[in-house]
Amino acid sequence: MKTAIYPGSFDPTTNGHTDIITRASRFVDRLVVGVLENPSKTPVFSTEERVNQLKELTKDMPGVEVRSFSGLTVDFARSLGADLIIRGLRAVTDFEYEFQMALTNRNLADEIETLFIPTSAHCLYLSSSMVKEIALFGGNIDDKVPPIIKEALMDKYKNRRTK
Ligand code: ADP
Repeated sequence: MKTAIYPGSFDPTTNGHTDIITRASRFVDRLVVGVLENPSKTPVFSTEERVNQLKELTKDMPGVEVRSFSGLTVDFARSLGADLIIRGLRAVTDFEYEFQMALTNRNLADEIETLFIPTSAHCLYLSSSMVKEIALFGGNIDDKVPPIIKEALMDKYKNRRTK
């Protein structure tokens, strides 16, 4: 059974992420989406919120699971018996960082391979941070995130503005 992990912050999940999940899940038996609990970042959504959002978004996708993790990505992969790390690649600006991560992970665990999936054209310039910024200022994000994420963002920022 081929198991892969797709690790990331998913703060929040965008159409770019769901596109990668859909496409990656077609060529593995089990795809575990790993929501990183990163102590050096202050996310807009808690780990639990991000996990629940992804669970809702992937509930009809066979073979897709969602979990949170902390620590090294390769340790998370090993704990699941996964030998593939899926990462999405957007513009060339992603390349340097992703390449560095892939080589570092290979150095830590040479039995685990990183597989890059190129973004779909309509998600090329789509990032969680861009979506948050647009939402914060009341812009339209309908074509960038699934409806449940739009709702969650509107809720989050409404609360912030009234604090
Ligand atoms: P991280 O903090 O690990 O980069 P992200 O949630 O930003 O977490 O991204 C997780 C993965 O999803 C990364 O491999 C990133 O390149 C990929 N990704 C993010 N947005 C897109 C997109 N629009 N198209 C394709 N891949 C994407």
